[in-house]
Amino acid sequence: MPLQDLHSRTHRSLRISVVDKCDLRCTYCMPEDQHFLKREELMTREEVVTIARLFVERYGITKIRLTGGEPLLRPDVVEIVRDLAAMRVKLGLTTNAVSLHKYIDGLAAAGLRSLNVSLDTFDADRFKRIARRDLYEQVWNNVRLAHDRGMHIKLNMVVMRGVNDDEILRFVELTEHNGIDVRFIEFMPFAGNHWGRDKVYTYAEMLGLIGSVHSFDRLNDDINSTAKTYRVPGWRGTFAVISTVTEPFCGSCDRLRITAEGKMRNCLFAREETDLLSALRRGDDITELIEANVAAKHAMLGGLPPFKPEKQEEVLNDLSERPMVSIGG
Ligand code: SAM
Ligand code: SF4
Repeated sequence: MPLQDLHSRTHRSLRISVVDKCDLRCTYCMPEDQHFLKREELMTREEVVTIARLFVERYGITKIRLTGGEPLLRPDVVEIVRDLAAMRVKLGLTTNAVSLHKYIDGLAAAGLRSLNVSLDTFDADRFKRIARRDLYEQVWNNVRLAHDRGMHIKLNMVVMRGVNDDEILRFVELTEHNGIDVRFIEFMPFAGNHWGRDKVYTYAEMLGLIGSVHSFDRLNDDINSTAKTYRVPGWRGTFAVISTVTEPFCGSCDRLRITAEGKMRNCLFAREETDLLSALRRGDDITELIEANVAAKHAMLGGLPPFKPEKQEEVLNDLSERPMVSIGG
């Protein structure tokens, strides 16, 4: 039985956060005073698998993405990947690549073929300012390592005005000789991330900038894709824009989310959550909880006002208290 909400959207995609802590502290994602969960509060591997299996077998989920925090900080991440890969879903993992050298062979052997890696700059000093850790070389070496080992790589860059917008063309030009897919993400508002509408470098601006130097073609995206994808003719990779702020795609969003402590969220910006893990630990049937959570999904942006300049104060007041690091992108 597919999971449909009030607006008849069918949900096929599940993001599971497997840990809430991180070895980077990106300014746009993690507040400086972030506290992390205790180990016993996290879903165990078995609980992750039980919940995932229910979504796949009962509700027709076909895509699962593991995220965090930083999923590679979870010692049993390879085992979790192996368990989920056996469910024959389209499986992905989003990582900052800091520890990728330790896990790349294990992840590949466990059945992972595709990685989303966050990288916001090619400048080591800038990386240190954005991620609050001096790890640019390690991250970039690990991106190359994973690419050389045949992993399909999507590079996620959060574009912030005056911070890294001057590197957009360099990221696009990376796709000339490399089969890498670059994705420019508009800077989104979350608790404690100092968002302002004026800091958002918009989708329209990105296309204008890229178009002033390169011609490009729009490619056909999957109907539920959050990204609008383009290719410079003849280049190996693609670039895409995730325009959550200026052109949200809520009407076709098919994603559901589980936090590291087993709370279900029907939207990235949801203010309500459903505690699946406590119910599971009590031995309760969690299907009714899941179905009620999906049914309550708002039409747009978790019920927040549109992210327009004139609505900025309202948006900031109404945000969920959860920072992005503990939601999982
Ligand atoms: N640690 C992993 C990583 O960085 O890839 C996975 C978790 S991270 C929360 C998932 C994604 O969310 C990353 O691609 C990150 O760039 C993105 N993200 C975090 N905060 C964001 C924000 N304020 N606006 C847009 N994207 C954001
Ligand atoms: Fe960590 Fe990823 Fe958030 Fe950066 S974006 S602080 S790497 S969870």
